[in-house]
Amino acid sequence: MLKEFFTFNTSFAAFFILLLGSLVGSFLNVVILRWPKGESFVSPRSHCPDCKTEIPFYLNIPIVSWLWLRGKSKCCGKKISFIYPFVEALTAFLFLVSYLKFGWTFTCLEMCVFLTLAIPCFFIDLEHYLLPDILTFSGMGLALLGSFYASNRSFLSSILGLILGGGFFWLLSWLYEKTRKKEGMGFGDVKLMAWLGALGGLGSLGFIIFSSSFLGAFVGIFVIVFFKGTKDTALPFGPFLILSALAYYFFSSTITQIFGAFII
Ligand SMILES: [Zn+2]
Repeated sequence: MLKEFFTFNTSFAAFFILLLGSLVGSFLNVVILRWPKGESFVSPRSHCPDCKTEIPFYLNIPIVSWLWLRGKSKCCGKKISFIYPFVEALTAFLFLVSYLKFGWTFTCLEMCVFLTLAIPCFFIDLEHYLLPDILTFSGMGLALLGSFYASNRSFLSSILGLILGGGFFWLLSWLYEKTRKKEGMGFGDVKLMAWLGALGGLGSLGFIIFSSSFLGAFVGIFVIVFFKGTKDTALPFGPFLILSALAYYFFSSTITQIFGAFII
């Protein structure tokens, strides 16, 4: 019945998905802020990072509160980072795109779950060069389980994507460490690749590996040229992997048409 209702009333469904996405995004802000410090996600309640005043619920409404307060906290007037409303808007937007692309299907649900785990990975890796095990391992487990219900991959394709994707990166990092005598790619990237491969299936590996390496090299050169980085300036690799995987999940049919000949 729920399905009929949402199919019937698309604009209501779109509104509902945006609302859900912004609420999830609001929670993801808490994860992004607190996980690196080892703090609990549920207690204490949201508080001002400057004066520790608890934030009442009506000042904690995703996106709306930040705009209403014009980016300054009510308690002490300090600037509130635009990252908060950005994460909320981004989550809401990508939830909506998943719904518009896949409709009211299992794939849409899988995408929203993926985004819920991948968005904090993206921002935590960007700032701290870390990918939380709790997120990557949960992702792997859910991707394998999901393969029994999914229409885009079999369980075999999922488990091969996990083993070969993770295995390839593990081999790369092992070789790099052997030859350069220092750590290049973190083990977090190995686990992330295993998760992305499990979710996209075997056929997604070629594109994700190619696209993330290309993006990484492109941004790396950009950083060297414009920000005076050196070739040893370390960039977190997770964000490139996540962006590439997202592109594959959303546009796999187009990508397969273009790169079909080159993908296993
Ligand atoms: Zn304050």
